[in-house]
Amino acid sequence: HVKKTGKNRFCFFDDIMAREQARRLRLERDLQKALPRRELTIFYQPKWDAEKDRLTGMEALLRWEHPELGKVTPSEFIPIAEENGSILPITRWMLEEVCSQSVRWQEEGLAAVPVSVNISSRVLDSALLVDMIHEALTASRLAPSGLELEITESIAMANLEDTIEQLGRLEQMGVRISMDDFGTGYSSLGRIGDLPFHTLKIDRSFIQKSSLFFKQAIIRNMVAIAGNLDLGIIAEGVETREQAEFLLSTGCHDMQGYFFGKPMAADSMSRWLSEGGAAGRLAAAEAAGAV
Ligand code: C2E
Ligand code: MG
Ligand code: MG
Ligand code: MG
Repeated sequence: HVKKTGKNRFCFFDDIMAREQARRLRLERDLQKALPRRELTIFYQPKWDAEKDRLTGMEALLRWEHPELGKVTPSEFIPIAEENGSILPITRWMLEEVCSQSVRWQEEGLAAVPVSVNISSRVLDSALLVDMIHEALTASRLAPSGLELEITESIAMANLEDTIEQLGRLEQMGVRISMDDFGTGYSSLGRIGDLPFHTLKIDRSFIQKSSLFFKQAIIRNMVAIAGNLDLGIIAEGVETREQAEFLLSTGCHDMQGYFFGKPMAADSMSRWLSEGGAAGRLAAAEAAGAV
């Protein structure tokens, strides 16, 4: 009897694993065709200066609408795209799209802020990256300072000497570079100054539950590190007025999160911008909270 239960349990897990494996294989195969079939779109999320109450940047985020499986999240498909190499053509396309969309917003007078693109490990390692960026900038005529690259702390630190070289080349081109998910990697803090970052981006795991005393202490220290190194600092995942107010009290003014604006398609972003964006949102929330 016991044996039978054990066996059934194995079958059950085997079943789940087989199904996961099948989904992964399918995504891997379909991802190769997603770009020509126009299933990928780029969403844009605002970065907001909560003190000056104005837009300071945007982050471009990939969205995949699979024809049969529906929405597939980037956390599921980016690792697959990394593995099968399709991340390279996808990032090339993204850089081109983002640069030309950015120029359109500038020409329409809607926004003139840097737009960031996430760069994964395989792309950062690629000798093609510098050319890809050069071509996207040239074709769109976007000034290099209008493009920002977000590189996660763990990727930047994994292969430090090569990263220093590659980021050096990119920095010389004049693009901006920020360290994404700051606090989640295993930085030897002593080496941060060796990398040409302009901005540190505090991971949202510190912002969520930022009422906790130890998280507040860590955030204050991150802000101090950025200040002492003469780097910009931004917090991601800001969802509430309380989080925004706490961040302001630490000296971190730049914020990104649902409280100010969710990631949205380019046309929605145009509308959002022409309606004033998140202007007055924090003041309104403060007024409502004071009642
Ligand atoms: P990330 O670069 O740290 O992006 C921030 C993530 O936080 C995004 O998730 C965004 O939608 C989400 N987010 C923003 N504000 C809030 C908030 O207030 N609350 C919560 N709970 N979440 C918030 P998303 O779009 O699902 O992307 C997840 C990750 O996938 C990104 O993390 C990035 O590492 C990766 N990714 C997305 N697009 C690309 C891409 O084009 N290329 C590469 N290489 N990676 C990408
Ligand atoms: Mg990012
Ligand atoms: Mg991030
Ligand atoms: Mg993050």
